[in-house]
Amino acid sequence: MKVPLSRPDVSEDDRRAVLGVLSGPHLALGPKLAEFEQAIARMAGTSYGIGVSSGTSGLHVALLALGIVPGDEVITTPFSFIASSNAILYTGALPVFVDVEPETFALDPDRVEAGVTPRTRAILVVDPFGHPAELDRIRDIAQRHHLKVVEDACEALGSEWKGVPCGNGRYADVAVFAFYPNKQITTGEGGCVVTDDPEVDKLCRSLRNQGRGEMGVWLDHERLGYNYRLDEMSAALGLSQLRRLDEFIAARQRVAERYQQLLKPLEDAGWLRLPKVRPEVTRLSWFVYVVHVAPPIDRDAVLVGLRERGVECRPYFTPIHLQPFYRQRFGYHEGAFPVTEAAGRTGIALPFFNRITEEEQEYVAETLRALLRDQTRKGGGRGER
Ligand SMILES: *Cc1c(COP(=O)(O)O)cnc(C)c1O
Repeated sequence: MKVPLSRPDVSEDDRRAVLGVLSGPHLALGPKLAEFEQAIARMAGTSYGIGVSSGTSGLHVALLALGIVPGDEVITTPFSFIASSNAILYTGALPVFVDVEPETFALDPDRVEAGVTPRTRAILVVDPFGHPAELDRIRDIAQRHHLKVVEDACEALGSEWKGVPCGNGRYADVAVFAFYPNKQITTGEGGCVVTDDPEVDKLCRSLRNQGRGEMGVWLDHERLGYNYRLDEMSAALGLSQLRRLDEFIAARQRVAERYQQLLKPLEDAGWLRLPKVRPEVTRLSWFVYVVHVAPPIDRDAVLVGLRERGVECRPYFTPIHLQPFYRQRFGYHEGAFPVTEAAGRTGIALPFFNRITEEEQEYVAETLRALLRDQTRKGGGRGER
């Protein structure tokens, strides 16, 4: 059996929506973009949404709109997809990493204040795997130190912390969602910035569109901007997908629950740690399903074994500070952020998508069980395979 890691859920309606755009006059900056932006803002409960070409470009313009400039420092997590930290570097600011907390792998509020210096301007907080960070506590810390909060909610469309949707202005000055094909909904490539701040909205709109002014003429450029626009075909696909988001979230919840059941015996045996959901999470929009092997088990050997048996899987995440470019440029090495590094050494993202079948999940669980049993028999994976 072959089980992919992820697979987009594209319907006949989705295809019709894209083809509909192709039959009309607007392929860019048309009505679908505006409609999609409003729909995403409604999801997050914010006043404004700004469609962009990717989650990464969204983070870039969000930071610029808050006035982050070279020499500033932005506190963030080393346990994320690399884009969350790279976006800080694009502005010329310095990402200052603080470690995550060990239960959900989100930025640890207890460690944030140790990272604050006179140059700190913002906290860029990530909701890892769709699980919200402690957004209210992050907000409180930011207020105490007069810092802005950028929420990288690229993995968390539809999740809620204490009844407040991820991306909401209650916790974040500006937040970003992403719609790459492995996310909860997809536009192919695409993202959306959300905010309650009219000035941030105006700046993001200008920055994604070559620095054009709001009322300006097409060839007037008020500031250094970018082409980070989201085209009409993508926006139409996103709108169509968004109509099924509740259904997607429910399907992913069922898939996660089935994994919890199937894998519980492996956790009870002490071989695995399953994802934990904090009680403050009033709605969880699962992005990926990541398990962590117990320390003596050789995670990389398990990855190889799963792949050999047709189960696509991935280490999630390799810590950002240990990526070759960050080591080279900033001189990071192992030991800097122990919780992040332990999570990075032991995590395995298992196949996870709306339409995975029970049979496929059973195969994944059984394959994993057999590999872990072999490893523990060999004495914690130190034996030869
Ligand atoms: C997906 C993702 C992004 C943005 O990704 P794009 O591919 O640029 O859309 C940013 N941060 C995190 C944590 C992500 O998972």
